[in-house]
Amino acid sequence: MIPVTKPFKTPLSELNLHLIDIWNSELYTNNGPKLLKLESELKNHLKVPNVIFLCNGTIALQIAIKALELKGEIITTPFSYVATTNSIIWEGCDPVFVDIEKETLNIDTNLIEKRITTKTSAILATHVFGNPCNISEIDRIAKKYKLKVIYDGAHAFGVKYKGKSIYNYGDIATCSTHATKLFHTVEGGFIVSMNNRLVKKINFLRNFGHNGPYDFALAGINGKNSEIHASIGLVNLKHIKSNILRRKKISNYYSKLLSPLVEDKFIRTINSENYSYYPILIFSKSKIIKIIEELQKKGVMTRQYFKPSLNTLNYLKNNDQCEVSNQICERILCLPIYDLLQETDVEIICETIINQYR
Ligand SMILES: *Cc1c(COP(=O)(O)O)cnc(C)c1O
Repeated sequence: MIPVTKPFKTPLSELNLHLIDIWNSELYTNNGPKLLKLESELKNHLKVPNVIFLCNGTIALQIAIKALELKGEIITTPFSYVATTNSIIWEGCDPVFVDIEKETLNIDTNLIEKRITTKTSAILATHVFGNPCNISEIDRIAKKYKLKVIYDGAHAFGVKYKGKSIYNYGDIATCSTHATKLFHTVEGGFIVSMNNRLVKKINFLRNFGHNGPYDFALAGINGKNSEIHASIGLVNLKHIKSNILRRKKISNYYSKLLSPLVEDKFIRTINSENYSYYPILIFSKSKIIKIIEELQKKGVMTRQYFKPSLNTLNYLKNNDQCEVSNQICERILCLPIYDLLQETDVEIICETIINQYR
């Protein structure tokens, strides 16, 4: 079976050295030395001013909304994982969906201003498949209307924008380090913020509001992560460069083999800046169903990330119209990509797809 992704397999021998430290110290959690080391190594690796490591990427979004004290409406993208929308709702705000650009599949900044009302407090946008949103335009709009900006950077590990880490933008940037993501800690996530006052607040928010043993600064939650998860991150970070290089090779091979279909305009391949995904758009709806079926017969799993378009979720108060996102969701297909995927697997996958057009 070829899954759509396989988590990077942390070398046990390397992990064991960390586990021995943990067992010896008997410090298993509560922002211990491994977690502090991971935060510091991520800071250096990403070249960001701070990293606040958390138990997952959804809590990172929730804490971001909480830290900024957002109320009312939050303008967001319909083309993301459901966690982006759910965190808005969970924090008592209303998502307002603005359609996406055909090219980048990110929120269409030309459509944002007309959806701003007196209730709008923020923009929460996702850098889908690791491709940067139109950050300079989002910044301009946010300044003009005094809105806060959160970027869901769950797919954007290691991506740069204008020469700087993409996590340096927005009031708060979040990331998920779930097992399915490019850099993972099995479960986990983190926040980056350029604003020191917010960093301090987020540190309180992730740890019940503790300001010393008997003083509580605010109504925090448990957003902490463990020493074991942090250790997995420390090992995986050592291998991230080779992991990305391997994925780059696989992506380029896919693109080469699929190029005839692109030239004949049957499909479009979508760039993924850090090779975290390999998405393609298949223009014919009947072909996409057939392709998924035929691949499945060969044991190849694919996923239609991100279906359904989030503006169509049945538990929303309003279902905004997002034509582009609705269409893309039906035509997108993410092909398997992970470091141990073999060239022969890529060949089988591409041949199966090409065969549908013979
Ligand atoms: C994975 C993901 C999340 C959620 O992260 P978890 O760590 O699984 O909670 C949020 N947003 C996007 C875009 C994601 O892909």
